[in-house]
Amino acid sequence: MLIVMKFGGTSVGSPERIAEAARLAVASAAQGHQVVVVTSAMSGVTNALIDAAQSASKGQWTAAVSQQLLERHRAAAETLIGTDPVRKTATLDILGRRLDRFEKLCYGLSMVHELTPRLLDAISGTGEMLAAPLVAAAIQAQGRGSQAVDATEVIVTTDQFGGAEPLMDDTARKCAAVLQPMLAAGEIPVVTGFIGATADGVLTTLGRGGSDYSAAILGAALDADEVWIWTDVDGVMTANPSEVAGARTLPEISYSEASELAYYGAKVLHYKTILPAFRKRIPVRILNSFNPAHPGTRVTVEGHPSASGVKAVTSIRGVSLIAISGTGMQGIPGIVAKAFDVVAQQQANVLMISQASSENNICFVISSSEAGRVLKALRSALEVELLRGNIEEIAEQPVAVVAAIGDRMRGTPGIAATVFGALGTAGINVVAISQGSSERNISLVVDAQDASRAVRALHDAFQLDRQA
Ligand code: ASP
Ligand code: MG
Repeated sequence: MLIVMKFGGTSVGSPERIAEAARLAVASAAQGHQVVVVTSAMSGVTNALIDAAQSASKGQWTAAVSQQLLERHRAAAETLIGTDPVRKTATLDILGRRLDRFEKLCYGLSMVHELTPRLLDAISGTGEMLAAPLVAAAIQAQGRGSQAVDATEVIVTTDQFGGAEPLMDDTARKCAAVLQPMLAAGEIPVVTGFIGATADGVLTTLGRGGSDYSAAILGAALDADEVWIWTDVDGVMTANPSEVAGARTLPEISYSEASELAYYGAKVLHYKTILPAFRKRIPVRILNSFNPAHPGTRVTVEGHPSASGVKAVTSIRGVSLIAISGTGMQGIPGIVAKAFDVVAQQQANVLMISQASSENNICFVISSSEAGRVLKALRSALEVELLRGNIEEIAEQPVAVVAAIGDRMRGTPGIAATVFGALGTAGINVVAISQGSSERNISLVVDAQDASRAVRALHDAFQLDRQA
């Protein structure tokens, strides 16, 4: 089997974690699998790089950051490589060169004071370029051939700096040329996550948390049999375990359930991650590098549908309900269009929309951090309607969105009844409701302080603590 394995920041956060990541990769290779490793930056490094770039662009640049990064990575190299002097010198040399490049970029930035997205990518992608040589060295130290590969050599992207998209044909060609020979020789290539390059070779990033995406892109480009995401939790759970004591890991979910779950706050998987794997029907496994014996969650086409229909309950916090109401809105066309135009102009992302057929009220949910701006812009854009009294009020309320998710909810009658029955019994007031016609999710807006109780009530009602 060809497996692309991605290790997240905490899974390579210390020399011990890197050694464990190497052990997991080597163990799979020893079972006869071909393994490509994708690594994130060591935990906290990307944030430190971005902070440094921002300070430098304000003229504040000290080499202290680069010293700290050098110390952390050098110490890891010393621990991981052991006594081989040639390997040690080679690795320390690479680390030094990469940090030198980082320093020069920041120094230049502190002179010109202009942080472009292109420059930010060049700087923020350094973390992965420091981590990959360490992971490769750790694999070599465990007796397997391994080479660090910069994803700039294998992932070809658009030039949308800060959120580039892969060009899959070019990427597949490069992967075949660069990675296949290493695999054929029994080596484990260690590719930097998060970054790529344009066709002209300019470094890009795939967006924050983009290493999962890198893994899926490489999996698709190499026609891998599976993509494994090694993280720090036991897979995707029926609910947030800090909120629901009986939450358990779901052994299998479908791609569409995974995307709904990612959207609704289960932070385990980035929704985009799924796409390249999904298009090629490549199963994705979520595994815990801190608990590798746990089977984790498999994301597949079928997704092992559950009998109760609902698979998981999630919640999104820190959001606000914006309600536009007035009896004079009935039958007046264009108010909805105007309202969403404003929201789009403010670049606010709408998480949920609801309008009752009386048309007296339109409401939608956005991030609370954007609510002030949006509210102000709405009041000004709808000034005439407010003056005429067609609209009586535009109001904001801090809320939470609680969602019940599952593919089999589609076509299963009685789910909504169970949802509302459970909330009614728990004495929780539902402010607004939305169900998309995909029927894979029922979303409810509740008062922010009722969110945990609502999640628990639904988890209990569908008996999600029991194995399906
Ligand atoms: N290191 C990058 C980030 O922190 C990418 C990743 O970890 O997936 O955003
Ligand atoms: Mg990360």
